[in-house]
Amino acid sequence: MIRFEHVTKKYRGTNKPALSDVDFEVQRGEFVFLVGASGSGKSSCLRLILREDSPSEGRVVVLGRDLHTLSTRKVPYFRRHIGSVFQDFRLLPNKTVFQNVAFTLQVIGASRAFIQQAVPEVLVLVGLDGKQKRFPHELSGGEQQRVAIARALVNRPQILLADEPTGNLDPATSIDIMQLLARINESGTTVVMATHEAGFVDQMKRRVIELRGGVMVRDDRHGGYGDRSSLPSLAPQQEKGAAAAAALTAVLELQREIAASPVEPVPAMEEAVTDAVAASAVAAAVATAPEIPPVTAQVPIVELDGLHLDDLGVAERLGLASDEDEVGPTS
Ligand code: ADP
Ligand code: MG
Repeated sequence: MIRFEHVTKKYRGTNKPALSDVDFEVQRGEFVFLVGASGSGKSSCLRLILREDSPSEGRVVVLGRDLHTLSTRKVPYFRRHIGSVFQDFRLLPNKTVFQNVAFTLQVIGASRAFIQQAVPEVLVLVGLDGKQKRFPHELSGGEQQRVAIARALVNRPQILLADEPTGNLDPATSIDIMQLLARINESGTTVVMATHEAGFVDQMKRRVIELRGGVMVRDDRHGGYGDRSSLPSLAPQQEKGAAAAAALTAVLELQREIAASPVEPVPAMEEAVTDAVAASAVAAAVATAPEIPPVTAQVPIVELDGLHLDDLGVAERLGLASDEDEVGPTS
């Protein structure tokens, strides 16, 4: 479905390649996390998949097409098979939810009848039923990202690329969005999600490709669950990091239980319940942070040894972390 063959990418005017000899293949229906610190080359990979850029060396093959031989004229048609979601949502501010999603279809000349059917369907899928007439500024960050996901999906792409889609969201909302992406993947769409939040990723038990300075340092098909060998050791703020990790783990466990329950909850209800659960779990963990002895979790679900606060990427949003350098645009 997506194949990188010894791909090296050098940007003009730079000495160090953004990607060096990157080689992997993603099969149809896979969910892959592309992880690495800011500047490690994640967005460069996604741009190559979309043919927004070309490799300096090597080959990128997507949906059976060698992108080097794909003519410029065919690129827009090729891109119709790929949906994209970004950290900053990229919604049209003066259009409603419905219009934002419909816009994609209008651009490709879909019929009015098709648009009237497809847009409400995809809005239900992402849990935005009833919010069609809202404008982006009337929505929460998580809801705005759902609109962006709906817009990416309305054309039924075979591949969904998400570049730091949870980068502007709080931990609980990030989990909601990840679960939505997981659900989309379960319905058959291949998903590649770039993120610098290694802490989330280990919880998800999906394939993880890790980049470091443009070099692929890990391709873990078993999702890296329990494998923290590539993570740096704990830094000073370990209790707070542990609290945030415990909160996240608790939320994930609860959501897994909810998901596993035989009764299908009404989407709005499910959202309200999980939001409340998430918020209270996070709040509880943060409130109890000072009492937690170093790296001993009160929620005994995850082993916290070796988990790095920065990799978790959530503590700063809880106001717990010191300054870090992940500030610039990452897409
Ligand atoms: P990530 O998405 O993991 O943060 P990027 O793919 O954006 O990483 O960037 C990888 C490296 O390539 C960085 O060193 C970045 O500065 C560089 N880079 C990205 N885009 C360009 C560009 N258009 N021109 C020059 N250098 C770039
Ligand atoms: Mg990026």
